[in-house]
Amino acid sequence: MEMIQSVLVTGASRGIGLEFVEQFLTSDSLQANIIIATCRSPETATALQELSKSSERVHILKLDVTQFDTYKEFALQVGSIVGDKGLTLLINSAGIAEGSLEDTLLDITPQRFISHFTTNSIAPVILTQALYPLLKQSAQVNSSETNNGLGIKRAAVINNTSILGSIKKCGSHIPRNWSYNESKAALNMSTQALAAELEKDGILVESIHPGVVRTDMTKGVEDTFPMIDKITSVEGIIAAMVHLKGKNKDGFLDYKGNVLPF
Ligand code: NDP
Repeated sequence: MEMIQSVLVTGASRGIGLEFVEQFLTSDSLQANIIIATCRSPETATALQELSKSSERVHILKLDVTQFDTYKEFALQVGSIVGDKGLTLLINSAGIAEGSLEDTLLDITPQRFISHFTTNSIAPVILTQALYPLLKQSAQVNSSETNNGLGIKRAAVINNTSILGSIKKCGSHIPRNWSYNESKAALNMSTQALAAELEKDGILVESIHPGVVRTDMTKGVEDTFPMIDKITSVEGIIAAMVHLKGKNKDGFLDYKGNVLPF
């Protein structure tokens, strides 16, 4: 079993984010010494609270990812937990999906576009910006973990994207959820730009599609798609992450480590 120093997961109250926390605590393949689990309502995140009661390695911090004016104070809180080793891994998992998979142009509203972009596209980038000094610190402290190359044991940002954000796949019969799909395509573009810019600092950036996973987000479409459970999804993502040595330039990954086109 391998260890990384620290991980921060957004949207850890439920779904895939919560599963990340659980696996970084108990996985046979990769665990973290410090797990910072963030959610917008810690007081109602009972499953997460149970995990934090079970181990001092889990720290719960309040974060609504759309409240950008709280990021500065939030970064200070993270810094006081991780100390001078910095933050090794940021996983942007918080996300929203409203509307249906059969939306038409007439279903979309400006507000829905704005809320999807704010949570799914803008927040992961601005949070990376806020935590950049801590990620850079980790890349410096842990450079020997990867012989100065890139890797999740040194410093990394992983964005939870979706196959629905693949423009190429969308051209061939992928369900249209206006604004969700666009927000994930924008996230993929930002991931590419961040990966190129932060490589010089020793920070790896990649986006990963978790599969079609049985969570609250996919309630109601269980009969439409074959689904996997969140354990399989997160085990797969972790296995794919461990092997990363840089951003895949031709697309983004899925939970099996396959490359999906932009
Ligand atoms: P869920 O709906 O089960 O969970 C969403 C999580 O995001 C919750 O923890 C929720 O917190 C959090 N969240 C939403 N908005 C905010 C916010 N403003 N600030 C902080 N946290 C917020 O979704 P999944 O676990 O299924 O999805 C996780 C990620 O994976 C998303 O980015 C999603 O787009 C992506 N994904 C999921 C797929 C699937 O099949 N499930 C497929 C492809 C991608 P709260 O409890 O407070 O509402």
